[in-house]
Amino acid sequence: MDQQEYLLRRSEIVSQGVEENPSAILVVGPGGRILLASDGAGVLFGMARAEMVGRQLEAFMVSAPGRNDLWKPDSCESGVVHNLEIRNSQGELIPVEAQCFSFSTRSISLGGEDQEDQEDQSHWMVMMTDTRLREHEDELRAARLAKLSLLNQVSDALHGADLTLDQILQAVLICMTAGQGLRFNRAFLLLIDHKQEILQGEIAIGPSNADEASRIWMDLAEQPGDLLQMMTCYDRSIKQTDVAVNEIVRHMTVPLSDENNLLVQVMHERGTKRLTAEMTWPGAETLRFWLGCSEFAVAPLVTRQGPLGVIVADNAISRTPITDLDLEFLLIFANQSAAAIENSRLYHELEQRLQDLGKAHQKQKEDQESLMRMERLSVMGETSAIVAHELRNPLVAIGGFARTLMRSLNTEDPNREYARIITEEVSRMEGIIHDLLDFIRPRKQTRKMLVLDELVAGTMGRFQGELDQKGLSLNYCLQAGSVEVSCNPGEIQQVLQNFLVNAMQMLLPGGGIEVRTSQLEGGVKVEVLDNGPGFAEDVADKLFSPFFSTKATGSGLGLTISAQIIKAHGGVPGARNRDSGGANFFFILPLPKREDGE
Ligand code: ADP
Repeated sequence: MDQQEYLLRRSEIVSQGVEENPSAILVVGPGGRILLASDGAGVLFGMARAEMVGRQLEAFMVSAPGRNDLWKPDSCESGVVHNLEIRNSQGELIPVEAQCFSFSTRSISLGGEDQEDQEDQSHWMVMMTDTRLREHEDELRAARLAKLSLLNQVSDALHGADLTLDQILQAVLICMTAGQGLRFNRAFLLLIDHKQEILQGEIAIGPSNADEASRIWMDLAEQPGDLLQMMTCYDRSIKQTDVAVNEIVRHMTVPLSDENNLLVQVMHERGTKRLTAEMTWPGAETLRFWLGCSEFAVAPLVTRQGPLGVIVADNAISRTPITDLDLEFLLIFANQSAAAIENSRLYHELEQRLQDLGKAHQKQKEDQESLMRMERLSVMGETSAIVAHELRNPLVAIGGFARTLMRSLNTEDPNREYARIITEEVSRMEGIIHDLLDFIRPRKQTRKMLVLDELVAGTMGRFQGELDQKGLSLNYCLQAGSVEVSCNPGEIQQVLQNFLVNAMQMLLPGGGIEVRTSQLEGGVKVEVLDNGPGFAEDVADKLFSPFFSTKATGSGLGLTISAQIIKAHGGVPGARNRDSGGANFFFILPLPKREDGE
């Protein structure tokens, strides 16, 4: 390549470098004529770059005192930045920063014979920047910084504090909508319900109309910068107003099987989606119907363990478009929130497991203790049986001799009274030993089907003479009818007798006893009621315990044996004081299960 060819090629490269540059660059020749314009200059001046070539640069400049001559050869200060205004092809005024560099044509001279002619001619390269764009960029940077700082606070607040799931969900929504937050008007949170296999709307935040919105936003204009303070502030202002949005969120349900649905798709694809009014998508129309708004953004709540749900946000009140920056932060924020939600769930699951473990440990301890107690009782039972047997024979002998002695002494002899006391005490001891042996005795499992009312009437009837003697009345109210129960009749009679004898012992002449039977679902109830003094409420849970007695001569085993019998029949014993005064001792026996399944 000869030198001329080389220079030509170089000139072409330089021209192309200028023309295809996205920055606004102009090469201006002598007299201010535009010789070259870049693509960026075309955009700034609002015309094709070729159209600009040949025009006077001054024609685009807005005249300002002291600036008109800027483009004149002698007055251009090379490298100095000037703030100017240009008028583009649509007549719009644009503030620009302009920087000029002058150079001599000699440096791009093609050489040869005409070199002399071009030597002195000065040219300028002018570079311009639309300062509005820079302001916009500054604003974006500031917004980005503010949001980043908020995200930092959110992350601290959500991950550090021991918040419940509900509190976390609420905090997430507050950050979505608060002035210092992501600044959406409304936010809706949907979580996966694994049991029902649906995405279910959980909680929402936001005003329901413009009036409400302006009130809240004015309220919150002076919000404190700190997130936690902001949460309380926001909470107060918005608590009564988010009823409408929470009504909406309750209707939001999407089956997970509907994989094409916008919400399900966003959740699985793990990216945000912004739907503008003209965009269609499966499920979008239903969502628009729920929201009452055509433009909205959706972000997934996903952790490493899998998807949790989605956040839907809109600007239904202010109608402000959702920007790319909004989406960018929505995604970061959703990721933070998902992690916090997962953490809180895991934390509370762990807490629950610890509690369960604690309960299991406690139960094991109790079981162990009761096993030890039962072992002790069983040893005691065996010992008592031996002692009772051993005592019974000498007691019979003592009782017999005492009675003989009493009979042989005449009535004036003071020793006769002592002999009587011995006889009485011995028969009391015999009673205790009888009850004790009865209590310890293993029970036979022989059962018969019997009509309960007949069994009750027959047992009670035997005591009529004794009742009459004591001046006590006995009434029957037997309503179990022909219902049959499977029982050991001797044992049930013993229970009835215990209840009846106790009642008789509590009554003075004139007192009354009533025996009732009734049918319950799956069982029958037998009650022995008296109108005596009843029992003290604080001993209610001891009545059926062994050896509890308030009587001077009681063994405290009658009710214990009764409870043992009833429980062995699969029934439930009980006692309560009557409202009208007196006691009600009862038991419930289960009805036999029918084999035919009716
Ligand atoms: P004992 O009759 O030997 O005392 P029980 O086990 O039969 O033993 O009764 C335990 C206690 O229950 C009685 O001492 C008494 O305090 C209370 N009790 C039983 N029946 C009645 C009743 N009908 N009214 C009030 N208290 C009763």
